Amino acid sequence: MRRLYVAGNWKMNLSLAEARALIEQIRARLPKDPPIDLAVFPPFVLLAPLADPLKAAGIGLGAQNCYFEQKGAFTGEVSPAMLVDAGCESVIIGHSERRHILGETGPMLKRKVAAALGAGLKVIYCVGEKLDQREAGQTEAVLSRQVHEVLGPEASPDRVTVAYEPVWAIGTGKTATPEQAQTAQAFIRQEIAKVYNSRAAQAMRIQYGGSVKASNARELMSQPDVDGALVGGASLKAEEFAGIIEGAIAAGK
Ligand code: PEP
Repeated sequence: MRRLYVAGNWKMNLSLAEARALIEQIRARLPKDPPIDLAVFPPFVLLAPLADPLKAAGIGLGAQNCYFEQKGAFTGEVSPAMLVDAGCESVIIGHSERRHILGETGPMLKRKVAAALGAGLKVIYCVGEKLDQREAGQTEAVLSRQVHEVLGPEASPDRVTVAYEPVWAIGTGKTATPEQAQTAQAFIRQEIAKVYNSRAAQAMRIQYGGSVKASNARELMSQPDVDGALVGGASLKAEEFAGIIEGAIAAGK
């Protein structure tokens, strides 16, 4: 049985005051001891000041990115060890905005995953096809490549969550149907089994991400291979994020 995992990717949003207020608003709406895992991923500069308030709210803390070196002359970068020092437990690697806007490649992401795990962080590794790739019938080829080029024996499967985020659904309001998410995620799980083994693949959580809202969360997370959600825009609104958490709990897994 995989415990559902709902994560909020705040992207490049919120001041410290806004973030503190959002955490309080979410906290006020959370049920006591929710039977799912929760985390948010604020921008770098908000990580350390939010570590305590998030801990008090029972919400995990993660970063949206890190570099693959531990220290040195890499101006503007942040190492996995620095994230641990700031209070993070996890980090998102390979978000589509980093792949497609910031030009991150498979080999780079493989190094980032290894470095993050090596520093003791858990990883959410994002995969997903672009619209033209889906329309050209390349979805499975893209997902397979993204799984195999980054995950491997050196990336301990028990500390990795995969997020399936079709690029055409991110920030567009166009959510994958539950069937599309299920089909893609069952395929990803098969590929993960090829990298590790079927026991590891059955244990690994695969989140869905792409315009998840309170109104579609329950149906998406009721699918057998959808083990949670990576939420962008809706994680910035307490009402919506709390509604997604309620949807996850109602999915009853
Ligand atoms: C994301 O950024 O990971 C994401 C899924 O964004 P949104 O929920 O806004 O589509």
